[in-house]
Amino acid sequence: MLREQLKEVEKNIETACKQAGRKREEITLIAVSKTKPVARLSEAYEQGIRAFGENKVQELCEKMEQLPSDIKWHMIGHLQRNKVKLIVGKVALIHSVDTYRLAEEINIQAKKKNLVVPVLVEVNIAGEASKFGTSAEDAILLVEEISRLENVKIEGLMTIAPYVTDAEDNRPYFRKIKQLSVDITNKNIDNVSMKILSMGMTGDYMVAIEEGATMIRVGTGIFGERNYHNEKRYWQVEKDGCFR
Ligand SMILES: *Cc1c(COP(=O)(O)O)cnc(C)c1O
Repeated sequence: MLREQLKEVEKNIETACKQAGRKREEITLIAVSKTKPVARLSEAYEQGIRAFGENKVQELCEKMEQLPSDIKWHMIGHLQRNKVKLIVGKVALIHSVDTYRLAEEINIQAKKKNLVVPVLVEVNIAGEASKFGTSAEDAILLVEEISRLENVKIEGLMTIAPYVTDAEDNRPYFRKIKQLSVDITNKNIDNVSMKILSMGMTGDYMVAIEEGATMIRVGTGIFGERNYHNEKRYWQVEKDGCFR
C-alpha cells in the first residue's frame, strides 16, 4: 500500500541524511506520479505529499485541475517549446531546461504574465546518447547565457542518472554534478542560484542524498511499478491546456 511504501521511503531518506550528516528539511521529496490516476495522487496527498512530478504537460494540467491548489507541481520531463505557455505560472519548478531556445521561450511567456519563472538546467551527466540534457562541458556556458534572460531564474541543476542495478555505480555521477554546481556557484553569475540539486530516483535516491541532492524524484518507490501498456489514459485529451 501507498502508505507503507511512503513510510519506507521516508525512513530511507532519514537514514541517508543521518549517514551524510544532513538535516531532513534539506531534502524535498517529489512524488513522481506520471501514468498514475488522480485517485492515487489523492492518496499520497492525504499522506502529506505536497510536491508532485509529472513529465507530460497535458497530464500535469489535467491532474492539477482535479487536485488541491496547495500542491506544488514539478515539470520533470522533456518540454517542447510550443507547450511552454501552458505551464508557465502554474508549475513550481521546471527541472528540464536544456537549451537556450527553450529558456528563451519560457522567458517570453513569463514576461507576458509578468513573472519570473524558476528553472533548473538539466545536465546529461553520464553523457548517455538516449538522454536529454546539456553536456557537463557545455553547462556553464548555457547557464551564463540563460542568466541574462530577465524573466527566468536558474535555481540549480537537475540530472537523470543512468539506470543501474547497483546505486553505487551512480555515485561518481552525483559527485560530478555536485562539483559542477559548486564550480558554477564559484563563478558568482548574476541572477543564478545553485541552491537546488535535483537528482536521485527510486533506485538511487539514498546515494544521491549522500552526495548532496536537495530534491529527489521518486515514482516507483511510492506508487509502485508503472505499466505504460495497460494503464488506461484517464485524463482527457480533448482539452489543450490548463484552466486554473
Ligand atoms: C519517471 C521519472 C522519475 C521517477 O522514476 P522512478 O524510478 O519510478 O522513481 C524521476 N525523474 C524523472 C525525470 C522521471 O521521468
